[in-house]
Amino acid sequence: MDKPRASGVEWNMVPPQEFQPCKYRICRTPTKGQLGGVILNQHVLGTGTHYSVGRTQPCFEAGCELCARAIRRDWHGYLFLMGRKSREIIILELTAGPACRLYDEFKRLRTLRGLEILMSRANDQPNGRVICRIGERVANVEELPTVPDIRTMMESIWGVTFSPPTGTEPVGMERMSERDLVVAGVRQRASLNGQTFINSGGID
Ligand SMILES: [Zn+2]
Repeated sequence: MDKPRASGVEWNMVPPQEFQPCKYRICRTPTKGQLGGVILNQHVLGTGTHYSVGRTQPCFEAGCELCARAIRRDWHGYLFLMGRKSREIIILELTAGPACRLYDEFKRLRTLRGLEILMSRANDQPNGRVICRIGERVANVEELPTVPDIRTMMESIWGVTFSPPTGTEPVGMERMSERDLVVAGVRQRASLNGQTFINSGGID
């Protein structure tokens, strides 16, 4: 009997990046109360998503099985936010409304990094209109922690690769459309890695 092939089997002391659990909580604007912090990204970056089997998943456009099942498609944007007191860094999931508001600020100020924001809802309903209050830029912007690339992070959480890394992030919401993510790259769906997606608890 032939021995099993040994070559090509890779063993690691720690799982490769794509298998590592995400260390950041992903938060939406809470139903009650507020969620605030300091923005760590230059701008929001988002894509079309579906909510299915209890979690948000990316839309694959052509050939998307969730589109084919007529599951509602929404745009969601993401950025890293740091609690002012706790300094906990979370991923904030934004709906289209506040993302547009933040994009206006991005166009005006050229970067969102260091801006304080406070997210709340107009009423206590889970789907209540989101209010995004934008405050001052903190004084010590250069001392804020650097964060991983949000697009790479979300693709890792979702277990997908939309396109080969280019080393350049799209800038601005004009370039945040699905079309830009449909680069002629690999579009594969790996199994979603079971990330617990939403935690509406706030940070301080
Ligand atoms: Zn879809």
